[in-house]
Amino acid sequence: MTKNELRLLVKVHLGALTDFPQRSILVQRNLRQYLTAFLKPSAGLMTYISFGSEVVTKNIEDFFPSLCRFLAVPMIQNGEIVPVRIESGDELEAGTFGILEPKPPVYRDRSRQIALDDIDVVLVPGLAFDRSGSRLGRGKGYYDRFLKKLKPSALKIGLAFECQIFDEIPADGSDVPLDLVITERGRVDESRAALP
Ligand code: ADP
Ligand code: MG
Repeated sequence: MTKNELRLLVKVHLGALTDFPQRSILVQRNLRQYLTAFLKPSAGLMTYISFGSEVVTKNIEDFFPSLCRFLAVPMIQNGEIVPVRIESGDELEAGTFGILEPKPPVYRDRSRQIALDDIDVVLVPGLAFDRSGSRLGRGKGYYDRFLKKLKPSALKIGLAFECQIFDEIPADGSDVPLDLVITERGRVDESRAALP
């Protein structure tokens, strides 16, 4: 299957998923369990802000302030993802592609800029994932370009529903693999057993 064929297939799966808010709560619960156990309070965390049928992360700041040193979200600047620190969901508004992004007074504030090396954990969206950590996005390569710039120790976590998980998905040299993927059933695991 080509990347585009797989994108179409997953969009059909997701379109049929009427209970994704409820499933998202299960994914979040599994994520929180993992982070509570393994995330140091000094860690810098970045999360995508969910859009469409992505695993919901919009309310995620409700439970993160106690788990990490800061929470950053992506914003598109000059065609690239840039991390911006936020202090609450009120600081977001619809931006590029209608996705929630930090408001201008927030992203213009220099103290909100995050050095790429300060990101220890990043939550990544996607259309399809496999058990070895390969990820398929929407076809623009935003996250591939961004993830490549993070320090090697940054933990890259995909959030997905089970219907987005495949045994093997097409990937090429520009696709940055994830360290683990968490679904409503738990961790999607295979080769990364050495992780905490
Ligand atoms: P996605 O990751 O969103 O599923 P693809 O992997 O199909 O999308 O990549 C989309 C485009 O982005 C491809 O043309 C790919 O070559 C380009 N791309 C991906 N990573 C990089 C990179 N690090 N530098 C430049 N172009 C990249
Ligand atoms: Mg890619």
